[in-house]
Amino acid sequence: MTRRSAAFAVMAALLAAPAAAPASGLPTDGWVRSRTDKGTPIFWPGSCAWLVPDTAASPDLPLATVVQIIDQSVANWQTPSHAANCSGAAENPDYLQIMVDPPAAGEAKLDHVNVVKFRSDKWCRPADGATAEMCYSSAATAITTIFYDSQPGQPNDGNIVDADIELNDIDFTFVWIDHVTPTVKPNTLKADLENTLTHEIGHFQGLDHTCWDHVSATQPVDNTGQKIPDCADVIAHRIDPDQEQRIVQATMYNYASPTETIKRMPKLNDLAGVCTIYPQPIDPKSCTRPGPPSKGCAVATGMAPARPTWLSGIGLIAISLLALRRRSRRP
Ligand SMILES: [Zn+2]
Repeated sequence: MTRRSAAFAVMAALLAAPAAAPASGLPTDGWVRSRTDKGTPIFWPGSCAWLVPDTAASPDLPLATVVQIIDQSVANWQTPSHAANCSGAAENPDYLQIMVDPPAAGEAKLDHVNVVKFRSDKWCRPADGATAEMCYSSAATAITTIFYDSQPGQPNDGNIVDADIELNDIDFTFVWIDHVTPTVKPNTLKADLENTLTHEIGHFQGLDHTCWDHVSATQPVDNTGQKIPDCADVIAHRIDPDQEQRIVQATMYNYASPTETIKRMPKLNDLAGVCTIYPQPIDPKSCTRPGPPSKGCAVATGMAPARPTWLSGIGLIAISLLALRRRSRRP
């Protein structure tokens, strides 16, 4: 039995109002990978990963609609026309196939089941015996918690072993723009569920945000090895205009406005990221479900507290969270 050292990252979809302008330059640059606490890029090691809608669904949308939106959000990343960007082999779409299982009651924890779960009573991930309760900023629309192996030098270093998506149904009302518009709950903001989930599924695949919001202690680098710009500089238009557009129009941009749907469609840099992480298989890896965690083998270690980053005075109405494991900050 190999003892697994698992850690996790937490990410979110957020709110702000990006400016619109035509993109140009190098549209496939500017994507960013999520990394372990020791700097290894994270990825699913097999050819398949599964999402499981929680049966409780959302007070805003019935379960059948939620499942339909999850399916569409996955398809947004995996349609053959997008896969053609990977290698031209449209008949053989992305290496990583994301499957959607029938709904089941689930919880966000290290159990090798990747739940999509709405929170409508408390915007917190409950304690599970291995990790303490973790509550999130009310400004975060959603959080993707990724458990990964952190064993530098070992073949499994950076392997994603579990990834759960939680949605904030307390501070937001989830709608499906152009399809279903439920009554907006008092004191909540609207959030398009397909827009939100497509972004979170980007995190699920191992992508990070396109600008630095200071939630991570160190400034991430993009695919070219360049440090990504500070989000404050992006929002204040203090960077190259072409680069700005690649950042703000990406599905993996940190922020979103209440009625936006731009993230439903991954952009060329988003797709280039997934294609690079999961290249077309010459020798396909297995597509097998992970077994149940063995007692004592899967251990979730510390978590960083949610640390909100407010960029006030710019019309920003939500925040970005990215917390990698930091033992020194374990709550
Ligand atoms: Zn995010």
